[in-house]
Amino acid sequence: MSPATMSGIRCKCGGTLKDDVTEVEFFGIDFGVRKSEVCAECGSEYLPQEVMEELEAEVKRRGLYGLERRGRVAKSGNSLVIRIPKEIVDSLGIKRDLPIVIYPADKKKLVVEVEDKV
Ligand SMILES: [Zn+2]
Repeated sequence: MSPATMSGIRCKCGGTLKDDVTEVEFFGIDFGVRKSEVCAECGSEYLPQEVMEELEAEVKRRGLYGLERRGRVAKSGNSLVIRIPKEIVDSLGIKRDLPIVIYPADKKKLVVEVEDKV
């Protein structure tokens, strides 16, 4: 996409887009710092089409495409429970009693890793 076609595009909110760079992470994969356009009004970030295609291709290559699911935290006794959807269970081959390690990666992200077999 040429700079000429990128300029003049406006955000959904009607704000003007400015060239910027964004740390891109998608499906937990770090794609590094990429060129982006950021809305001067609401701060929404837009990635160029070629970057979007690259992200999608890599997620598909890793067999992760389409596995994102929404859910809610449930309660069981004194613990909170996060259910793992069947599609993710099947895709990763998760089984009952599988040893896991769970830790917060930041304030809004929880990582669940399958523990390495010793
Ligand atoms: Zn905006």
